[in-house]
Parts: sequence; C-alpha cells; structure tokens
Amino acid sequence: MWDADVVIVGAGPAGSGLAIQLARKGVRVLLLDKEEFPREKTCGDGLTPRAIAVLERMGLLNELLQELEPYRVEQAVLFSPSGHRWRMHFDHAGFGLPGFGLIVPRYRLDGFLVSKAVESGAEFLGGSQVVGFVRDGRKVVGVRIDSESGGRVVKAPLVAIATGANIGLHRELGLLQSMPPVVLSARGYFTNVSELGHAMEFYFESELMPGYAWIFPVDEKTANIGVGVFPGTGRRKNPYKMLNWFMREGQAAGRLTEARIQGQVKGYPLRTDYPSHPTFGDGFIMLGESIGLVNPVTGEGIDLALESAELAAEAVEHALERGDFSRKTLVVYEKMLRKRFGSYFSGMRVLRDRAVRPEAMDRIIRAASRDPKLARTVAGINLGVISPQAVLRQPKLVVRLVRYLAKRFFRRLNEAD
Ligand SMILES: Cc1cc2nc3c(=O)[nH]c(=O)nc-3n(C[C@H](O)[C@H](O)[C@H](O)COP(=O)(O)OP(=O)(O)OC[C@H]3O[C@@H](n4cnc5c(N)ncnc54)[C@H](O)[C@@H]3O)c2cc1C
Repeated sequence: MWDADVVIVGAGPAGSGLAIQLARKGVRVLLLDKEEFPREKTCGDGLTPRAIAVLERMGLLNELLQELEPYRVEQAVLFSPSGHRWRMHFDHAGFGLPGFGLIVPRYRLDGFLVSKAVESGAEFLGGSQVVGFVRDGRKVVGVRIDSESGGRVVKAPLVAIATGANIGLHRELGLLQSMPPVVLSARGYFTNVSELGHAMEFYFESELMPGYAWIFPVDEKTANIGVGVFPGTGRRKNPYKMLNWFMREGQAAGRLTEARIQGQVKGYPLRTDYPSHPTFGDGFIMLGESIGLVNPVTGEGIDLALESAELAAEAVEHALERGDFSRKTLVVYEKMLRKRFGSYFSGMRVLRDRAVRPEAMDRIIRAASRDPKLARTVAGINLGVISPQAVLRQPKLVVRLVRYLAKRFFRRLNEAD
C-alpha cells in the first residue's frame, strides 16, 4: 500500500540530512524537491563550527573536505559601528566544537548532500513540487506532486516537511496563514576582493541597522557578500540598496573598489521565528528552516537544519519501531526540539531587538575585544552553545548592562527636556 516508509519534501540540508540518516538504517526514503539538483540556493554559504560538528557526527566531513575543497575559516571578525574590531577565534572558544568553519557555495554543498542520500539508499526525485497532501481523515498519509510529466500521488505513513522559507504547505496544513516576520537579505559573489583572510566578517554598521553585512571568502579573491535586514517596527530597509551602500561606503569599501560581481545579486527571506507553530501532527513532522530554525542574529541556519535532522531521525525511528505515526508518538520530536532550541531562540530574539543597535554593538564589541571572559560568553552566544539568558548569571555583565541602560535612560530624559 505504501510507496515509501517516509517521504521527505525539500532536499536542502534538513531534508537531505534526514534522508541520509534514515536510508542508512534501511528505511525506504523518497526525497522530493521542486528543483532539479544541483541547484543554487541564495545563502551566505558559511558552515559554522556547529555545522562542522554535525557533519563529523554523520561521518561526512572527510569526504566533504576532499570532494568540495571548501574554504577554511578560523575566526569570525565582528566590526562595530565606530570601527572597533573583535576577533573570535573558533579554536579558542573551548566549547568542544571544531576549531574551524567552512565556506562552500550551496550549489556544491546541497548537491553533495543529495548525492550522499542517494548513495545511502534514498530515492531522489528532482523537479517534483509537492502541492498538497493525501489524507485519511485527519491523518496525512502522502503527498500530491506536480512535475513536468504531470501530477502524481505518493503514499507514505509519514511525511517530513523541510521546505525552508517556502510556506505553501504550512498553509495547506492550516499552520500558518501568512509569512511570519522574516529577515530580508540580498547577497552576491564578488571577485577581486582584496585582503581576504581566513575569517567570516560581520559588519554591524549604523546605516545597516537593524541589520548587518557579511563578507565570507569563497577563495583567496572571491567572497560571498551580503546584507540581512531584521524585522522590526517602521519601514524596512531594502537589502539590495543596503548592500550597494555597504560596498561603496561601508567600512570595507576600500577593499571593494576593484570588486566585480559574478552573476547577479539575489535576495531571499530568512525565517527565524522558531517556535511559532506546531512542528508535528498526525502523519507529519517539520524540520529546518520550515519551522523557523535560523539564528535570529547571525542568520545561520545550515547547522540548525542539520541538527534538527538528527533529532527528526531519532523521532522517526521511534515511530517506525512502534508502527505509530500519530501525534501521540510524534510529540517526542517537539519535546526534543524545545529542549535543544526553545530558550535559546527566545533569548536571541530579545538580544537582536535590544542589542543590535549602534551604541550597544559598539560597547559589546569593544568590551569583548578587551575582556576574555565576556568574549567567551559572546562567542558562546554566537555559536549557540550559551543561551543569552546566561548573561544575567554574570554579575560583572549585569552591572555593565544596568549602567548602560541607566545612561541611555538619562540621555533620553535630557533630550526630552
Ligand atoms: C541570504 C542568505 C544568507 C544566509 N547565510 C547563511 C550562512 O552563511 N550560513 C548558514 O548556516 N545559513 C545561512 N542562511 C540560512 C540558510 O540558507 C537556511 O537556514 C538553510 O538553507 C535551511 O535549510 P533547509 O534545508 O531547512 O531549507 P532550504 O535549504 O531552504 O531547502 C528547502 C528545499 O525545499 C524545496 N522546496 C520548497 N518547497 C517545496 C515544495 N512545495 N515541494 C518540493 N520542494 C520544495 C526547495 O527547493 C529547497 O531545495 C542564509 C540564508 C539567506 C537567505
């Protein structure tokens, strides 16, 4: 009766990561994507130490290094609005994570992951857009596909949805009526960029706020350069215009005078709203960016997509063992997600709204460059291993925070007079 044990919709890092892990266990997996692969994906292409750790756990890191020859980065450099600079060395952070990150264009990374899913035994169908579900009462028991060769129905007791920021299927399931507040972004590949080191560069410039720019080197001369604009009150800045401004007038402009665009600048939204809707139901689970799992401050989500695939694989195996794909069994997945990501996301959103402001970023970046203990905390927050709420457990930081807020309060009071 079933065409597969599990149908996975979306072959980004979340979907392919899940397909690899399940297929290796002998689960019959059908992996679907609306695009033919390899395909481009608008992204900064940065793999954080946290992403490297998952790839290592999955036994894929060595092959990835050999086959894709990615660019290695050993630090993140954060620039404050007034030009302070803090180097966060990944190998000094000491959180038990690998001491490096990688930059690898998604065209290559996602193509690699899909090929590994197929090697592991999954069936992959590109050019297959899922347009709806097959239902048995309230239960999801399959998907409806539209492809060039026509419509088709595929039946499976469990559907895993990993469709990134595309919320068409969320609407079908009644989980979202409209797009949640997103980060708007634009990025391009630029060649002839000077002084590219082995670092991910983040620029928190006043003109870009609420938002930031990045320069991620793809090789010695080429970089993925982009801008992310956070959701907030008031009129949103246009990320394409902001990128233009950054290239001409930002702190790195001197290094970009000879830079030439390769291809086009492309924009795409980022969902950072986890947990804003259920992540499971009768016969389905959701993972990766399709549940808003993207770091609200840094915009990094490949690591979290891969991690959610690990948790999803565990939950699916549990359901397969019990032969039960109802909410009652799948709730275990939601619990794992909450434990791993719940408080981190709420803390990061507060941090984004309060701290990504010119004055605050100046203070944080300057202080982190001078104070190793603070630096370790900020690094841990950025890498997602310390929840931002932990800041409140450091008395020295609380005193600084109170002083800063008091100063701001009195300045505003004076301005009002
Ligand atoms: C400009 C930009 C810069 C970024 N920079 C970084 C970075 O440097 N590092 C980082 O870690 N993260 C970054 N991110 C975030 C990162 O791209 C995402 O978090 C990550 O791709 C999420 O992976 P995913 O597998 O959940 O979804 P995706 O990678 O988006 O994959 C979803 C897949 O689903 C397919 N799909 C969608 N709908 C359907 C459908 N109905 N039927 C069939 N297939 C469907 C799509 O074609 C796609 O292949 C960036 C994002 C943007 C927009």
